[in-house]
Amino acid sequence: MRRRYLLSAGGAAIGSIWLSQYLPERSQANSRVGAKFEINKTDDEWRKILTREQYDILRREGTEAPGSSLLLEEHRAGNFACAGCSLPLFNSKTKYESGTGWPSFYASIENAIATRRDGSRLEVHCRRCGGHLGHVFDDGPQPTGQRYCMNGAALKFIAG
Ligand SMILES: [Zn+2]
Repeated sequence: MRRRYLLSAGGAAIGSIWLSQYLPERSQANSRVGAKFEINKTDDEWRKILTREQYDILRREGTEAPGSSLLLEEHRAGNFACAGCSLPLFNSKTKYESGTGWPSFYASIENAIATRRDGSRLEVHCRRCGGHLGHVFDDGPQPTGQRYCMNGAALKFIAG
């Protein structure tokens, strides 16, 4: 009896932790779905203009394999723009080598991105089209201390 009691009490505790984490995230996710972005396209329209990898990341919050992005080796001056809508998101001056295998920046261009709580992480998406870009962490270099960990496939480089 004692064992059964402990098990059910443990289950209830896990359940309430699960609910408290899940519910706020769920409601935020719902508000994001309902959010109006400047650029709105249907899934079919996105599929037509994006590669399969771009679509999986930007529209389905996928993650590319670390070390797979050609942008890791992009060291020219210019902007990294949203692969979905071309809005400039990061300037090359803020790019740095994080050692993670994903293109990393310590700051975004002003008014270019938006964030959403994603469990223990902060999800980053394009302010204009809502495309998923990656996550931001607070273990980056100075001057901001932030690390924008981006999927290279969600970005396109525009030199200049
Ligand atoms: Zn965009």
